Amino acid sequence: SDSAEISPKDIDQLSKTSFPLCMRHMLEKLRENHHLKNGGRMQFGLFLKGAGLKLEDALAFFRAEFSQKVGSERFDKEYAYSIRHKYGKEGKRTDYTPYSCQKIICATPGVGDHHGCPYRHFGDENLRAALSNMGISGNALEGILDKVKNRHYQLACTLTFEATHNVSCDTGINHPNQYFSESQKVLQA
Ligand code: SF4
Repeated sequence: SDSAEISPKDIDQLSKTSFPLCMRHMLEKLRENHHLKNGGRMQFGLFLKGAGLKLEDALAFFRAEFSQKVGSERFDKEYAYSIRHKYGKEGKRTDYTPYSCQKIICATPGVGDHHGCPYRHFGDENLRAALSNMGISGNALEGILDKVKNRHYQLACTLTFEATHNVSCDTGINHPNQYFSESQKVLQA
Protein backbone atom coordinates (compact mmCIF):
# COMPACT_ATOMS: atom_id res chain seq x y z
CA SER A 1 0.00 0.00 0.00
CA ASP A 2 1.00 3.62 -0.44
CA SER A 3 1.79 6.15 2.24
CA ALA A 4 -1.26 8.19 1.22
CA GLU A 5 -3.85 8.81 3.92
CA ILE A 6 -7.58 8.35 3.67
CA SER A 7 -10.14 10.02 5.89
CA PRO A 8 -13.43 8.56 7.22
CA LYS A 9 -15.49 11.08 5.27
CA ASP A 10 -14.01 9.82 1.98
CA ILE A 11 -14.64 6.12 2.56
CA ASP A 12 -18.06 5.88 0.88
CA GLN A 13 -16.87 7.64 -2.25
CA LEU A 14 -13.60 5.68 -2.37
CA SER A 15 -15.58 2.48 -2.00
CA LYS A 16 -17.56 3.29 -5.15
CA THR A 17 -14.52 4.17 -7.22
CA SER A 18 -11.63 2.13 -5.88
CA PHE A 19 -12.55 -0.67 -3.45
CA PRO A 20 -12.57 -4.25 -4.72
CA LEU A 21 -15.91 -6.01 -4.45
CA CYS A 22 -15.01 -7.80 -1.19
CA MET A 23 -14.51 -4.47 0.58
CA ARG A 24 -17.43 -2.68 -1.09
CA HIS A 25 -19.62 -5.47 0.20
CA MET A 26 -18.35 -5.20 3.76
CA LEU A 27 -18.77 -1.44 3.85
CA GLU A 28 -22.33 -1.87 2.62
CA LYS A 29 -23.06 -4.43 5.34
CA LEU A 30 -21.41 -2.30 8.02
CA ARG A 31 -23.56 0.70 7.01
CA GLU A 32 -26.66 -1.52 6.92
CA ASN A 33 -26.17 -3.49 10.16
CA HIS A 34 -23.90 -1.10 12.11
CA HIS A 35 -21.90 -4.19 12.92
CA LEU A 36 -19.44 -6.70 11.46
CA LYS A 37 -18.46 -10.00 13.02
CA ASN A 38 -14.86 -10.69 13.88
CA GLY A 39 -13.84 -12.10 10.47
CA GLY A 40 -15.18 -8.97 8.80
CA ARG A 41 -13.62 -6.61 11.31
CA MET A 42 -10.25 -8.24 10.67
CA GLN A 43 -10.45 -8.31 6.88
CA PHE A 44 -12.01 -4.86 6.46
CA GLY A 45 -10.17 -3.16 9.33
CA LEU A 46 -6.77 -4.23 8.09
CA PHE A 47 -7.65 -3.25 4.53
CA LEU A 48 -8.58 0.26 5.67
CA LYS A 49 -5.40 0.47 7.68
CA GLY A 50 -3.42 -0.57 4.56
CA ALA A 51 -5.31 2.00 2.49
CA GLY A 52 -4.08 4.73 4.84
CA LEU A 53 -6.75 5.12 7.53
CA LYS A 54 -4.98 6.25 10.69
CA LEU A 55 -5.72 4.63 14.05
CA GLU A 56 -7.68 7.56 15.50
CA ASP A 57 -9.78 7.75 12.33
CA ALA A 58 -10.39 3.99 12.36
CA LEU A 59 -11.64 4.23 15.95
CA ALA A 60 -13.95 7.13 15.03
CA PHE A 61 -15.19 5.38 11.88
CA PHE A 62 -16.07 2.07 13.55
CA ARG A 63 -17.34 3.79 16.70
CA ALA A 64 -19.84 5.83 14.68
CA GLU A 65 -21.34 2.63 13.24
CA PHE A 66 -21.04 0.17 16.13
CA SER A 67 -22.36 2.59 18.74
CA GLN A 68 -25.67 2.65 16.83
CA LYS A 69 -25.94 -1.08 17.41
CA VAL A 70 -24.22 -1.85 20.72
CA GLY A 71 -23.87 1.62 22.28
CA SER A 72 -20.68 3.60 22.59
CA GLU A 73 -19.79 2.24 26.04
CA ARG A 74 -19.79 -1.32 24.81
CA PHE A 75 -17.87 -0.28 21.73
CA ASP A 76 -15.17 1.30 23.88
CA LYS A 77 -15.06 -1.76 26.16
CA GLU A 78 -15.28 -4.61 23.67
CA TYR A 79 -14.20 -3.40 20.24
CA ALA A 80 -11.79 -0.48 20.54
CA TYR A 81 -9.05 -2.69 21.99
CA SER A 82 -9.02 -4.99 18.97
CA ILE A 83 -8.80 -2.02 16.60
CA ARG A 84 -5.80 -0.66 18.49
CA HIS A 85 -4.46 -4.20 18.46
CA LYS A 86 -4.62 -4.31 14.64
CA TYR A 87 -2.53 -1.15 14.60
CA GLY A 88 0.01 -2.77 16.89
CA LYS A 89 -0.86 -0.60 19.88
CA GLU A 90 -1.94 -3.39 22.22
CA GLY A 91 -0.83 -6.89 23.15
CA LYS A 92 2.33 -8.08 21.48
CA ARG A 93 2.40 -4.91 19.40
CA THR A 94 2.59 -6.87 16.20
CA ASP A 95 1.90 -4.64 13.23
CA TYR A 96 -0.74 -6.73 11.44
CA THR A 97 -0.60 -6.94 7.67
CA PRO A 98 -3.74 -6.65 5.50
CA TYR A 99 -4.94 -9.97 4.07
CA SER A 100 -4.02 -11.06 0.56
CA CYS A 101 -6.57 -12.39 -1.95
CA GLN A 102 -5.27 -15.88 -1.41
CA LYS A 103 -5.97 -15.70 2.30
CA ILE A 104 -9.40 -14.12 1.76
CA ILE A 105 -10.39 -16.67 -0.87
CA CYS A 106 -9.50 -19.46 1.57
CA ALA A 107 -11.71 -18.03 4.33
CA THR A 108 -14.83 -19.95 5.34
CA PRO A 109 -17.46 -17.32 6.16
CA GLY A 110 -20.42 -18.67 8.12
CA VAL A 111 -24.00 -17.42 8.49
CA GLY A 112 -24.02 -13.69 9.23
CA ASP A 113 -20.42 -13.24 8.08
CA HIS A 114 -19.67 -10.80 5.28
CA HIS A 115 -15.95 -11.33 4.83
CA GLY A 116 -14.41 -13.58 2.20
CA CYS A 117 -14.17 -13.09 -1.58
CA PRO A 118 -17.50 -12.50 -3.36
CA TYR A 119 -16.22 -14.26 -6.49
CA ARG A 120 -15.63 -17.35 -4.37
CA HIS A 121 -18.35 -17.05 -1.73
CA PHE A 122 -21.37 -15.39 -3.35
CA GLY A 123 -23.96 -17.44 -5.20
CA ASP A 124 -24.36 -16.80 -8.93
CA GLU A 125 -27.37 -14.50 -8.54
CA ASN A 126 -25.85 -12.30 -5.85
CA LEU A 127 -22.65 -11.99 -7.80
CA ARG A 128 -24.51 -10.97 -10.96
CA ALA A 129 -26.46 -8.36 -9.00
CA ALA A 130 -23.31 -7.00 -7.34
CA LEU A 131 -21.48 -6.70 -10.65
CA SER A 132 -24.49 -5.03 -12.29
CA ASN A 133 -24.44 -2.53 -9.43
CA MET A 134 -20.88 -1.72 -10.43
CA GLY A 135 -22.14 -0.93 -13.93
CA ILE A 136 -20.87 -4.13 -15.55
CA SER A 137 -23.05 -5.87 -18.12
CA GLY A 138 -23.04 -7.83 -21.36
CA ASN A 139 -19.88 -9.57 -22.51
CA ALA A 140 -17.81 -8.13 -19.69
CA LEU A 141 -20.19 -9.58 -17.11
CA GLU A 142 -20.30 -12.98 -18.79
CA GLY A 143 -16.51 -13.02 -19.07
CA ILE A 144 -16.19 -12.47 -15.33
CA LEU A 145 -18.73 -15.16 -14.49
CA ASP A 146 -16.87 -17.52 -16.80
CA LYS A 147 -13.66 -17.04 -14.80
CA VAL A 148 -15.61 -17.70 -11.60
CA LYS A 149 -17.04 -20.91 -13.05
CA ASN A 150 -13.47 -22.05 -13.66
CA ARG A 151 -12.47 -21.01 -10.12
CA HIS A 152 -10.17 -18.23 -11.33
CA TYR A 153 -11.37 -15.77 -8.71
CA GLN A 154 -8.47 -13.34 -8.89
CA LEU A 155 -8.77 -13.26 -12.69
CA ALA A 156 -12.48 -12.48 -12.29
CA CYS A 157 -11.50 -9.60 -9.99
CA THR A 158 -8.88 -8.43 -12.49
CA LEU A 159 -11.50 -8.37 -15.27
CA THR A 160 -13.79 -6.39 -12.96
CA PHE A 161 -10.99 -3.89 -12.38
CA GLU A 162 -10.43 -3.59 -16.13
CA ALA A 163 -14.12 -3.18 -16.89
CA THR A 164 -14.63 -0.48 -14.26
CA HIS A 165 -11.41 1.44 -14.96
CA ASN A 166 -11.20 1.09 -18.72
CA VAL A 167 -7.56 -0.01 -18.60
CA SER A 168 -5.75 -3.30 -18.83
CA CYS A 169 -4.24 -4.62 -15.64
CA ASP A 170 -1.42 -6.88 -16.80
CA THR A 171 -0.04 -7.71 -13.36
CA GLY A 172 -3.40 -9.10 -12.25
CA ILE A 173 -5.03 -8.58 -8.86
CA ASN A 174 -3.54 -10.47 -5.92
CA HIS A 175 -4.26 -8.16 -3.00
CA PRO A 176 -7.21 -5.88 -2.12
CA ASN A 177 -4.83 -3.06 -1.23
CA GLN A 178 -3.09 -3.48 -4.58
CA TYR A 179 -6.52 -3.17 -6.26
CA PHE A 180 -7.08 0.02 -4.28
CA SER A 181 -3.72 1.62 -5.04
CA GLU A 182 -3.82 0.66 -8.74
CA SER A 183 -7.28 2.20 -8.92
CA GLN A 184 -6.13 5.41 -7.26
CA LYS A 185 -3.21 5.57 -9.69
CA VAL A 186 -5.56 5.28 -12.68
CA LEU A 187 -8.04 7.82 -11.30
CA GLN A 188 -5.42 10.34 -10.29
CA ALA A 189 -3.49 10.08 -13.58
FE1 SF4 B 1 -11.15 -9.07 -2.83
FE2 SF4 B 1 -9.07 -10.35 -3.92
FE3 SF4 B 1 -11.56 -11.38 -4.06
FE4 SF4 B 1 -10.87 -9.24 -5.48
S1 SF4 B 1 -10.03 -11.34 -5.69
S2 SF4 B 1 -12.78 -9.50 -4.32
S3 SF4 B 1 -9.52 -8.16 -4.06
S4 SF4 B 1 -10.35 -11.07 -2.23
